[in-house]
Amino acid sequence: MNIAVIGTGYVGLVSGVCFSEIGNRVICVDNNQDKVDMLNAGEVPIYEPGLKELMVANKRAGRLSFTSDIAEAIRESDIIFIAVGTPSLPNGDANLGYVEQVAIEIGTHLESYKIVVTKSTVPVGTNDRVRELIQSISTQPFDVASVPEFLREGSAVKDTLNPDRIVIGTDSERAIKALKKLHRPLTENLIITDIRSAEMIKYASNAFLATKISFINEISNICEKVGADVTRVAEGMGYDKRIGSSFLKAGIGYGGSCFPKDTQALIQIAGKVDYDFRLLKSVVQVNQDQRFNVIRKLEEIFGTVSGRTIAVWGLAFKPDTDDVRDAPAIDIIRYLTEAGAVVKAYDPIATANFRKEMDVASIAWEDNPLKAAKGADALCVLTEWKEFSQMNLMELASMMNEAIMIDGRNVYNKEQIHASGFQYYSVGRPGLN
Ligand code: NAD
Repeated sequence: MNIAVIGTGYVGLVSGVCFSEIGNRVICVDNNQDKVDMLNAGEVPIYEPGLKELMVANKRAGRLSFTSDIAEAIRESDIIFIAVGTPSLPNGDANLGYVEQVAIEIGTHLESYKIVVTKSTVPVGTNDRVRELIQSISTQPFDVASVPEFLREGSAVKDTLNPDRIVIGTDSERAIKALKKLHRPLTENLIITDIRSAEMIKYASNAFLATKISFINEISNICEKVGADVTRVAEGMGYDKRIGSSFLKAGIGYGGSCFPKDTQALIQIAGKVDYDFRLLKSVVQVNQDQRFNVIRKLEEIFGTVSGRTIAVWGLAFKPDTDDVRDAPAIDIIRYLTEAGAVVKAYDPIATANFRKEMDVASIAWEDNPLKAAKGADALCVLTEWKEFSQMNLMELASMMNEAIMIDGRNVYNKEQIHASGFQYYSVGRPGLN
């Protein structure tokens, strides 16, 4: 099939590459010319395991190309995916400006029947708006569909090639037939539904996962006070098939480009129909508070962090990605620097992106975890990169000014900690302290 994917970010690029991998002819479009030039030169602008190899192979096979010429991409394709960003506006609403802009461009360049598919996460009713915008410009025939994306950064290629399900929301039999054909090589779990339900499935799924995370984080806070171990509690809960073990890892809360903005957007969607989504509001509040547990622990130890040197391991919002959007590390490091601490920061991949968010003189950017820890008064582990779990903790403790660790992701086990000499604080595991 001939596919256009508009927007070559984490979702658009991975989707485009994977659609070409299963034999389609794909044109990826971006209005950022630098990105397009980079992709045409065989470089991937984001870090995503396995992506570069697949991209290069499919480009070479002639199935995948990149352009900033949206008119050409629309002309050459049967199905057009919209995969541009929908970031939060200051009030929490999803910013639909990019989606609407693309809808207008599609309307402008439509010359024959197309299926227009929204992959971006958009509030209920947005696909109707896309239809209206195109119809206001063009008299050509087209159908719209909502096919929300569920990939996870860090395993995006794997998730896209082996999705748990594909949701297809449309009122057009023709679109259903084409979208079934396109997605069937990926999974048999095709959920065919109406457009509004498809739009809602995406928000409900992310809100539910965020709820699980905030739930186990609250349990961890209670565990710390009553002397229980949250990792064992989660394990004991997770074997229950009704609960499931995923997303029950206590830590410093969720971040990234999806959960924070999608929970806020769903609160706004509910508010607009006069529904107060109390549960989700609490989920968001709990998540925000959880980040500051790291600070609370440091201040309990030092009184004030002013004048202290704090090493930070992990800037990305989770391992295996360079994405720092709404990462807990941003709030934590901002607080530390504003409170007068010196921060020595290390991340295997995400440092360059983090520096674009925050680059102040009191942060030293280190290219090695041991250099970051050397001479520090405390070490905070904020992302569970695999390399951190392999560290020699005894050596690490010996090079710090004070061997104090706040492990925000429960990276280390009892044996490692006891042998290390660290004064150790983790999440919901008071027995290890
Ligand atoms: P992103 O910011 O990484 O990428 C968006 C891309 O769209 C950018 O490259 C930008 O230059 C391009 N763009 C913007 N306007 C354009 C236009 N008019 N024409 C052509 N290109 C344009 O965003 P992302 O993380 O890939 O997310 C895209 C959507 O998918 C969002 O709605 C997001 O909520 C959703 N989503 C993201 C993830 C994720 O893990 N990142 C997962 C599921 C769903």
